[in-house]
Order: sequence, then structure tokens, then C-alpha cells
Amino acid sequence: MTRTKRAISNEASKEKQIYDLKQLLEISKSLTSVIDFSTLIEAILYTCMGQMKTLGVAIFTKKNFDATYFQLNRNYCGFELEENCDYSFPEEHPLIALLSRPSACYTVEDIGALIPADAPLKALFALEPSLIVPLKTKNHINGLLVLGEQISSEPYSNYEKEHILNIASLASIAISNAALLEMSTTDMMTHLKLKHYFYTVLIERMEFSAEQDLRLSVVMIDIDFFKRFNDTYGHSCGDTVLQMVASVIQQNTRSQDMAARYGGEEFVVMLCETQASAAMKIADRIRSSIENLDILYDGQHLSLTVSAGVAEYDPLRDKTAKALVDRADKALYEAKESGRNAVRQSK
Ligand code: GH3
Ligand code: MG
Ligand code: MG
Repeated sequence: MTRTKRAISNEASKEKQIYDLKQLLEISKSLTSVIDFSTLIEAILYTCMGQMKTLGVAIFTKKNFDATYFQLNRNYCGFELEENCDYSFPEEHPLIALLSRPSACYTVEDIGALIPADAPLKALFALEPSLIVPLKTKNHINGLLVLGEQISSEPYSNYEKEHILNIASLASIAISNAALLEMSTTDMMTHLKLKHYFYTVLIERMEFSAEQDLRLSVVMIDIDFFKRFNDTYGHSCGDTVLQMVASVIQQNTRSQDMAARYGGEEFVVMLCETQASAAMKIADRIRSSIENLDILYDGQHLSLTVSAGVAEYDPLRDKTAKALVDRADKALYEAKESGRNAVRQSK
């Protein structure tokens, strides 16, 4: 290469480096501004696709804070997953130990030469990934990033590997922040949100709904005669009942809704873009699903019911989030008065 050509080429690579650094700054700003876990994972997927010019990206993460496995759930694009195949790595898997070493990413060949291929690795290799990248903050792995082939079919260059390691480290910080928020706003026993966080989100959602002229409803749910479970079978039976009820409530709420544990055996649900009539149907579905539960505790079949109150947000009446929740609570009281195992709507 002549000196002039080399100078031009150096100039071009300097420009590319400056461009990539600016990109990293933008990625950092955008990822750290997302606090919702699933939105964040989606943002990471699309960032990696764009930056690495690949159609295949997958992210293994822990499902919740007490999980001991890194799993591939719905967080992937461009890979064809086998049905009934378990894509997960336990924390103590040798691949996790390998990825915990000082910053490096690995090809399937690199990994194959260092670790014997067991079932989790074989499942991963069957996806034919081109690069496995650790999502790591302070030497602590909180996820695995798997990249497919580049659109150009070229192998990833050392420069690109360095770039993806930088992106992965920003992604990992954002994941760690989102996980911390998740942990500090979640009730450990039921895995539903805590009351104070529910109010924070409800206040925001009420403002948004009033501005956009969208409907919004709140459902308060209380277990009927819950004290009897504690008194008859003990506190741990009461805890099991609470977890089962929470799980039915969670199954009946969409991702844009929010279910929280309001107090001991009381729950509250925020239903976005939902008017009172639809909220009544959802509340009644929850009520009847719980009525049909057959709980096996210590060899005994237990059944239970709940009562619920529904209120639709009315910007003229509900000046505060508390006012709206109080109306749902009053309707719940009427459901209790009517004989329990019932749903009532606030007037
Ligand atoms: P009602 O139909 O009128 O709602 O009757 P109830 O028995 O459900 O209501 P009450 O308010 O009399 O009793 C609620 C009980 O819930 C009292 C409290 O000891 C129990 N409780 C609150 N939090 C927990 C918990 O985390 N675990 C267990 N096991 N019990 C709890
Ligand atoms: Mg109760
Ligand atoms: Mg109660």
C-alpha cells in the first residue's frame, strides 16, 4: 500500500471509530432510559441486529431474581428454535465460567475446543450461532448474547468483536438496573408488584389516559374468609393460597396492565384502555377461575372464593389515584355485603 493510500485508509478507520463511539453514546443513552425489563430486552435485540448487521440475535437471561438458570424465552430473532428443546444454562455451567473470564467473546469452535459438549451446549450449537458474548457487569454475568451470521456472511472481525463487547457491557448495566428496579418493586411471596410502585404507575397512567382520552379501570380483589385458612391449616397454608390467587390474577392480566399486592390478602389490578364493562368481565373471569381452583394442601382439597370491586377512571371525579382506588374498594365492600364470591361496579 502506498503512503497516501495507507493515510486515506487510516483516516477512514478513524472516522469509523468516531462514528462507532458516537453510536455507543447513543446506545448508552437509549438503553439506560428503559427501565421496563421486556422493553429493554427488545431494545437490546434490535440494537445488536443493527450494529452487528445480523438477522440472528438471542438473549439468555434469568427469568426472575431468584432464578438459577439463564434461559432463552421469547427473546430472540432470526433463529429457528426446536420445539420441546430446553435452551438454558445453569449458573454453574462451564460456559458461564468461561464467559466470566476477562472480556472476550467466543465462536462455537472456541467453545468446542475448551468445554465438552453437553446437552445445553449441543442445543445452543444447533442454532448455528456465530458468536457468544457475555452480558457482564463487574465480572458478574447477567445474561448471554448470541449472534447469528452477519448479513455479509463475513466472520466477525476483531474490531467488531470489540464493538459488540462494548455494547454488551452497556446492555448488561441496563439489565442490572432493570433487575434492581424489578426486585425493589416486587412482592417476594406473590411475585406481584408492591402497592407503592402500583400507585407510581397508576398516577402516570391516569395522566396519560386523561390526555389521550383513553379508558382506564381498576379492580380491587379480596379473598373471602381468608383468616379461616390460617386458623384451620396454619400460616403456610395461607401463604400457598395467596400465591395461587396471585398467579390466577397474573394470568388474567395483559403485559400493559399491572397487578399488585395491595395488602395482606388484597390485590389491585390496573387495566389499561379498558372501560368498566370490560373490566367487570375480566374481574368476573378472575373470580370464577379462583372459585374453580382445586388446591391440594397437605393431602386435603381446599377451595376458596374472592370478591371484587371495579371502578373506571373518571377525570372529573377522581382527582387522585387514591380516590379511584377508594371507589373500587367501596364496590368491593358492596360485593362482600352482597354475600361474597361476587363482583360489583362502582356507581
Ligand atoms: P373477608 O371475607 O371479610 O375478607 O374475611 P377475611 O378473613 O378474608 O378478612 P380479615 O381481614 O378478617 O383477615 C385477613 C387475614 O389475612 C388476617 C391476616 O392474619 C392474614 N394475612 C395477612 N397477610 C398475610 C400473609 O402474608 N400470609 C398469611 N398466611 N396470612 C396473612
Ligand atoms: Mg378477605
Ligand atoms: Mg382484606
